[in-house]
Amino acid sequence: MTERNYTCTVCPVSCDLTLRDEGGELTVSGCKRGEIHAKSEYTDPKRMLTTTVVLKGADIARLPVISTAPVPKGAMAECLKRIYKTEVDAPVKAGDAIIKNILDTGVDIIAARTLDRA
Ligand code: SF4
Repeated sequence: MTERNYTCTVCPVSCDLTLRDEGGELTVSGCKRGEIHAKSEYTDPKRMLTTTVVLKGADIARLPVISTAPVPKGAMAECLKRIYKTEVDAPVKAGDAIIKNILDTGVDIIAARTLDRA
């Protein structure tokens, strides 16, 4: 049997969850939403990605960017390497695609704010 402990982030109550894997049969303490969260963390953990890229031609040097959906936790480091190599020219509008389908995850990296040319 494998056992994992998680803090549920689905609602502000922040319950401690215990997941037990007995031969592939998963059981979780907590409510239904917490159960879905813990099973997702155990089988396919994902995270939203927020960071910045180099921005040229604007008053600030970096553009905040965000993923359009959570990306697999195991791909985060490679996604960040790809993003850190990216340079963008102003002007940029919030929602513009900066990197489409990053690392074939099906997720786009988009601008998180609008910045005019200086
Ligand atoms: S287990 Fe349920 S009640 Fe507890 S934090 Fe998660 S969603 Fe909220």
